[in-house]
Amino acid sequence: MTEETVEDRERRYLVPVARLNLAGQPDLIHLSVYQWLPAFQARATGMAICGYSTQQGALPKAKVTCPECLAYRPRYERMLAPGYRPEDDDPDVLRKRAERAERQVEQAKALAAKWHEAARRKDSAVILAGVAGDVLMAALNGVE
Ligand SMILES: [Zn+2]
Repeated sequence: MTEETVEDRERRYLVPVARLNLAGQPDLIHLSVYQWLPAFQARATGMAICGYSTQQGALPKAKVTCPECLAYRPRYERMLAPGYRPEDDDPDVLRKRAERAERQVEQAKALAAKWHEAARRKDSAVILAGVAGDVLMAALNGVE
């Protein structure tokens, strides 16, 4: 096994894992979060992200066949990605960000319109600002 850096050890990611060999367990390959456990100085897997108990150990080359694990995969991958912020999944936070962005676009459009009007009056000192305003307005009108 290759040596992992401290940064590598902070990374958690999804790996295929085997089901428990118990009667009644569906014959599926699941996904589990693979993470470094400082107490054991080793990586370990936990339960499947669909909730089934699994055997310990990653099966990197196995094909995941559990439909529930595959359905949960995109959400888990997003949550495990470096830089993930929990509020990125909060609809209220996202709505407020969208409203703020819309206000900023409206303010920029108003500014571009002022520049355009100044250029229309043929004031040579502001012709360039007017051109910039027209370019900005065209760009903002394309923002939806
Ligand atoms: Zn599963």
